Amino acid sequence: MEKLETHLKLALALSDCSCQKASVKIRGYMAAKKMQFELIRVAQGNFRLGVLTGVGRTGKYLLNTPGCLLHTHLGTIPHLTQDTLHTLKQLPCVSQVTLSALAEHQEVLEEFKDGFQKFAGLHDTLLYCSLHDPAASSPTGYTTNKTVSVWGSGGRIELTVAKFVALLKSVQPDWYQCMADGETWQSNTSRKRVRKSVDRTLAHLDECLLAHQTSPELKETEVFGVVEGGDIREERVRSARETAKRPMSGFCLDGLQTGSMDQALRTELITAVNAELPEDKPRLLQGVGRPDEVLACVEAGVDLFEGFFPFQVTERGCALDFDYSICPDPERAGTAPPAVLEQDGVEKPAVERQTDADVNSGDQIQMTPFEINLKDKRFHDDFGPLVEGCGCYCCRNHQRAYIHHLLVTNELLASVLLMIHNTAHYQGFFRALRDALANDKLDILKRKILGD
Ligand SMILES: [Zn+2]
Repeated sequence: MEKLETHLKLALALSDCSCQKASVKIRGYMAAKKMQFELIRVAQGNFRLGVLTGVGRTGKYLLNTPGCLLHTHLGTIPHLTQDTLHTLKQLPCVSQVTLSALAEHQEVLEEFKDGFQKFAGLHDTLLYCSLHDPAASSPTGYTTNKTVSVWGSGGRIELTVAKFVALLKSVQPDWYQCMADGETWQSNTSRKRVRKSVDRTLAHLDECLLAHQTSPELKETEVFGVVEGGDIREERVRSARETAKRPMSGFCLDGLQTGSMDQALRTELITAVNAELPEDKPRLLQGVGRPDEVLACVEAGVDLFEGFFPFQVTERGCALDFDYSICPDPERAGTAPPAVLEQDGVEKPAVERQTDADVNSGDQIQMTPFEINLKDKRFHDDFGPLVEGCGCYCCRNHQRAYIHHLLVTNELLASVLLMIHNTAHYQGFFRALRDALANDKLDILKRKILGD
């Protein structure tokens, strides 16, 4: 218990600087060079507040949970250079890269020998390597008993386990998602196909682990097993139970992404899966990023998310604008957006604000209630920041009217500024979520995000 309290203090102290190298107390984990997951608190059902220590091959980093990874294209956050990225503080220490993007560079990486992190000049982030890019759709129908396919800019690349592991040896990530047959997320997938997907994924996992153990390049790399099972509860449970029998560092929950099912079914399946997974291992949910869905999935026991949502919002010319402030804190003034007040002075929940948005119909299909569309002409003379009180570079220096102008004239700077703000806002949401868990303020946060 004392150990947990120590970690609680440590995690809260570092909750705003999770990219920092861990302090003296963490060095014990560095010696172990193995990632450890400490549950600090479980609140209101399955909400888990935790901290991953000893993260990465060097074991120098920690990651607070619930949290999200940085979404990248070949190691770079879309639209941002390393310089502009570093105007943002308190970023998570793990960046996600995808084999779909890296597979066509295998020969160059093999020739380079020192791994993708060094190749791309990523000195202060760790790499998590997944199969697919959650922000891009992949054609289905290209898996076999022995292969899965990934899609790069040059087309389809078929991976066997041997090729998959060879590719990872050239990338040398800190974590990776094991090869999996993840083509059963569509609701009309037959039970037979779902069962086959679970069987194949377990077979791939065993073959991967065998190859991994004999690869010196992957000696310090953590492996996440993948839980499949479509929307069939029995197959989800079987997949989780069998995967948990293997020596995994964590678990990826695949096939539950936004658009594949409603949240009630997703929550039911995640709850059933998590009951089979060990409590001391992190659970990473793939393909879910909307704040309301994140909240529901954290409530079902998820610890980590892919961070692609701010990119999707940026790509449609929108800015995240939802209230997640749970307690006024003078020390954080200017970093957390205050409540959005309408003209009548009444605070309106995010969900309600969407219906007010006068946006282009094409964009509205994709828009969520958590964003505003800066292309809308109502912003052409709006001289306020994207979010009042936000401390990001964009909000400190620019107005909504200027972003609107950049968007309608197709200037590249629009995406740069929106990406800075959206990344800052999204990370702020996860910090608020952890603070709410630590301070018994989940109900307040849920009301803010979901409305009354
Ligand atoms: Zn901002």
